[in-house]
Amino acid sequence: MEHYAIRETAARLRKFYETGATRDPGFRIAMLKKLGGAIRSAEADIMAALRDDLRKPEFESYASEIGILYPEISHAAGNLRNWSRPERVPTPIIHFLSRSVIYREPYGTALIMSPWNYPFQLTIAPLIGSIAAGNCALIKPSELSPATSALIAKLVADTFDPSYITVAQGGVETATAVLEEKFDFIFYTGSTAVGRVVMTAAAKHLTPVALELGGKSPTIVAADARLDYAAKRIAWGKFFNAGQTCLAPDYLLVHRSVRKEFIRLFTGAIRDFFGEDPRRSPDYARIINERHFSRVASLMRDGDIIHGGNTAPDERYIEPTIIANVTPDHRIMQEEIFGPLFPVIEYDSPDEVVSHINSMPRPLAIYYFTGRPRTARALFAHVHSGGACVNDTISHVGSHHMPFGGIGESGMGAYHGRYGFDIFTHRRSVLIRSNLIDMPLRYPPYGRKVGLLKMLFKLLG
Ligand code: NAD
Repeated sequence: MEHYAIRETAARLRKFYETGATRDPGFRIAMLKKLGGAIRSAEADIMAALRDDLRKPEFESYASEIGILYPEISHAAGNLRNWSRPERVPTPIIHFLSRSVIYREPYGTALIMSPWNYPFQLTIAPLIGSIAAGNCALIKPSELSPATSALIAKLVADTFDPSYITVAQGGVETATAVLEEKFDFIFYTGSTAVGRVVMTAAAKHLTPVALELGGKSPTIVAADARLDYAAKRIAWGKFFNAGQTCLAPDYLLVHRSVRKEFIRLFTGAIRDFFGEDPRRSPDYARIINERHFSRVASLMRDGDIIHGGNTAPDERYIEPTIIANVTPDHRIMQEEIFGPLFPVIEYDSPDEVVSHINSMPRPLAIYYFTGRPRTARALFAHVHSGGACVNDTISHVGSHHMPFGGIGESGMGAYHGRYGFDIFTHRRSVLIRSNLIDMPLRYPPYGRKVGLLKMLFKLLG
């Protein structure tokens, strides 16, 4: 989209917002239902687009890009009247004869920028929050998943008034142009590097942001873990979408005493899932483009490959690969892998795990495998992460009852379910004072009133 068109679009969205149409919860519910209906009738096209972009297996497309959205939509549609109800709260006695009410109001116009790895879900899930909260939205999907982005543009155009919700397709230039406009809220999902660009642009207009970023999510297998389950659950989370998942297990910290057995079971799980030659498996995705293929492939130069390592550049295939003997200064241990490579590091004591995790930026998730789930609390007390699973990977993202988001360099602000509504909502605190009497205490001249004031606060405190 050209610059001037983006400017006009932003102005149109604002104008629509100012009509007040989105303030009506009935309107929001109707729009959510419309969105749900549109997704339902486009299911086959969505899966085809995801296959085009990522050769995503149908099961993965349905589970992580489509199915996951329906409970989000119905939960928001069913609850948003309640969520948006004005909330009467107590009033401090100092303001007696007043009432206090928190109103939950839309920000106004929202910008939603999304990445290519779950290009449909990561665009629509924030949109659900935006609609539920009563915002107008401009969506900027990723140029790296062109089939899905085009589909989103069509679905949105066929479903909504373009002054209410619309899509700007394009690459970095378009992203830069939309970021120049003033929106009332920005919801960005993507890399930490671009997250900084987005926040810097937002600072110019002092626009609040939610940043859903990436990072290196550690996976810990303790000596007492149930290794057969751990192997399957980690292989599943790691190789889902060929490792191109923001919260995929990035690397493994395994207790030295169980390392050998774990690797045996883990390679067994890879074989069970994808057969002897994962290239021929219909259930294994491809790397999004050549640039990312070369980047991930080049990370294989670090350490020693102990399983996998095969690639097919013509189809951007990278085999599920396990890499041992990595060191902190290897690139594979410094940048988010975002591909099907799994570095393995042994540890001897839990303190090593804590100091390793704390030596890195705060991750989006931590996965801890143990036979005694209570010990997870001791670990979590010493390390930070956006979210976590005990004895599982990535599954916490699938709950609309829990906030999903990062911390530190993995992001700020969380969404899903009620939290999706909250993040797109401004809480406006309103104090309504009675006209029954007018207390003179606060007015100048203050004279000796300060003594009275001190007494009053002493009594209240
Ligand atoms: P990206 O940051 O490259 O791109 C995301 C969006 O930013 C796209 O719309 C793109 O057009 C735009 N963009 C790219 N470069 C830009 C620039 N210089 N200026 C302005 N906008 C720009 O991210 P990606 O490669 O599409 O996605 C991968 C990253 O996203 C990984 O780091 C992953 O961990 C992260 N991610 C996070 C989550 C989450 O929910 N926390 C989910 C998925 C992906």
